[in-house]
Amino acid sequence: MRHAQHLGIGIRIGIGFVVVLALMVTLGAVGLRYVAEANQHLKDIAQNNNVKTELATLMQSALRERALCMHVLPILTDPFDKDAEIQRFNSQGAVYIKARDQLERMPLSLDERKTLDQIRALTRKAQPEVQAVVDMAIFNDKQAAIFDRIRNVAMPRQRAIANQVGNLLELQRRQTAAAVRNAEISYEHVRNLMLGLGATALLVGMTIAFVVSRRVALQARQLATQAMYDPLTGLANRALLHERLEFEIGRFRHTPTPFGIALMDLDRFKEVNDTLGHNVGDELLQEVGRRLKETVRADDTVARLGGDEYVVLIHDLEPEGVPAVANKLLAALEKPFHWQNQSIDLGASLGISLYPSQSIDASELIRCADIAMYVAKHSGQGYALYSPDQAHTSRSDLSLKSELREAILSNQLSLYYQPQIDHRTQYVVGLEALVRWNHPQRGFLAPDTFIPMAEEAGLIRSLTRWVLKTALDQLATLHRHGHDLHMAVNLSARSLHDVTLPASILTLLAESGIVPEKLTLEITETAVMANSSDALAILSELDRMGVKLSIDDFGTGYSSLAYLKRLPVDELKIDKSFVMDMEDNENDAVIVRSTIELAHNLGLKVTAEGVETLSAWDTLGKLGCDCSQGYFMCRPIAADRLETWLLESDWHTVAEGAQLAL
Ligand code: C2E
Ligand code: CA
Ligand code: CA
Repeated sequence: MRHAQHLGIGIRIGIGFVVVLALMVTLGAVGLRYVAEANQHLKDIAQNNNVKTELATLMQSALRERALCMHVLPILTDPFDKDAEIQRFNSQGAVYIKARDQLERMPLSLDERKTLDQIRALTRKAQPEVQAVVDMAIFNDKQAAIFDRIRNVAMPRQRAIANQVGNLLELQRRQTAAAVRNAEISYEHVRNLMLGLGATALLVGMTIAFVVSRRVALQARQLATQAMYDPLTGLANRALLHERLEFEIGRFRHTPTPFGIALMDLDRFKEVNDTLGHNVGDELLQEVGRRLKETVRADDTVARLGGDEYVVLIHDLEPEGVPAVANKLLAALEKPFHWQNQSIDLGASLGISLYPSQSIDASELIRCADIAMYVAKHSGQGYALYSPDQAHTSRSDLSLKSELREAILSNQLSLYYQPQIDHRTQYVVGLEALVRWNHPQRGFLAPDTFIPMAEEAGLIRSLTRWVLKTALDQLATLHRHGHDLHMAVNLSARSLHDVTLPASILTLLAESGIVPEKLTLEITETAVMANSSDALAILSELDRMGVKLSIDDFGTGYSSLAYLKRLPVDELKIDKSFVMDMEDNENDAVIVRSTIELAHNLGLKVTAEGVETLSAWDTLGKLGCDCSQGYFMCRPIAADRLETWLLESDWHTVAEGAQLAL
């Protein structure tokens, strides 16, 4: 389309130039023609008039000569002189007639012709008189009579002719003057015409130049807009944001006012977009843009980076101001959005980074905000201010979410099992199933990295089902092979929202042929406390089924003992953080000891995890801990090595020896 526009402009410019060129050519041609015409005109007139004037002058001088002859003849006495004079008289007459005849043949004006006719008539009248005077002189008549005749008859007639010839000359002078004037007028016309056409050409040229330059400027502006703004929301795009950041960074050198950027990502946009459609999604994105603009100051920049990601450049932002700004932005997005009587909660996570305290580079600043945003999303805190210790968090983890969906379906997940040893008998009594993800590119991934993602991506239900089924099938195999163990499976906090969980566990138990009592479900203390009413219902249901329940990571969260008493729990698991440190840290030792006592007082079993040394094993045994698991006894092992371990392990042997000793 831009190509077509360029073509259009090109054609228009071309047409413009052709018009200007045509005007110039016309101008030249017309001008030259007029000049040539005027020249020709002038030349004709000049040539003809010169000839005519010459002829008329000839006539005039001939008349004068003849008049002179008339006066001379009577006084000449010598017959030779007289003869010569008569000759002259006659030849002047011939000159006169010849000149007059030539003149009559020339192109004449009406006035000229009229004057010539009069001259001819007058000549005809004067001729006999003049001849008579000459004849009288020839025949030596009396001088007095001749002069009398000359003065009274011949001369007046001659003068009348001479006057007319004078008139003719005057007429010709006037005609020449008029022709010159006409030529001058013609030249003036040509000049005016040339000036007019020239001005028109100039005007057309200037108009074209003006129109073209305006179009070009307009298109340049349009292109700049396209290049700098997000077409959907009209907000700045990534390029413009960078430009503004660079500008602020440059300005900081003269006016050191710090600033910050807030990067936000809508929490449930994808879900809404998928269920309500792209049109609603687009409307929501526009509304988000409007709300953000309303929330910040007019000189702050709100940009959309694409998808559901926005960035706000906030002037004058110091660390103390971060909570207020962040909460204001979050509040703007937490207000529900409305669409056809539906209320839509989008929610957002926000990461903030500060210039110049955290980074002095525009791209780096965005990256820091991005990391902080990712941290905020994971912690569920709403917003996070960047700190260097977040730097290991990678945004690429997000793409793992979609891969995880695939992984669950395509068997990239596997279960490792960690044996749990009974302190009294030193037998392996159970196994904890621990999930692993064998990622095609990243290798083995620990559950701590992808379980939170599975929770966020809504994949936890299928992941839990897969773990339960795999673990129960494995247990069934072990049972068939004579290993009478129980199996502990970890449940995510989210699973306690899933009211269908008890029923599906029942099905899985039935399918694998495992009795409920052999299955222990581990739930973290925090998860139980946070979901109290939902959790209680589900836990009670599981308890009724006969499944054992264990509180995982006990001691790390907050516990309400009163609440704990009401839960249908069978076991407490002491978190490895206490167990691993209990020999060096008195506090941890106290927690371990009191947890064991508390559990026993409540009638619960205690299992310790993170037993890495013989002395930890011994201490726990002495404190009355029922069961332990840890690297000292066995690291979590893959299913295919499990049975070998169970058959060959020292723990099994020790357990048999201990039994013999009893
Ligand atoms: P957890 O339930 O507290 O699991 C115990 C963790 O401690 C396991 O890490 C285990 O490998 C590790 N561990 C065991 N003995 C020792 C020891 O002596 N020293 C040390 N340093 N560590 C030891 P893992 O497998 O990485 O699992 C981490 C967490 O992931 C688990 O903590 C559990 O909360 C979660 N998780 C594992 N599998 C699943 C699962 O299938 N579903 C759910 N929802 N969560 C799971
Ligand atoms: Ca566990
Ligand atoms: Ca733990």
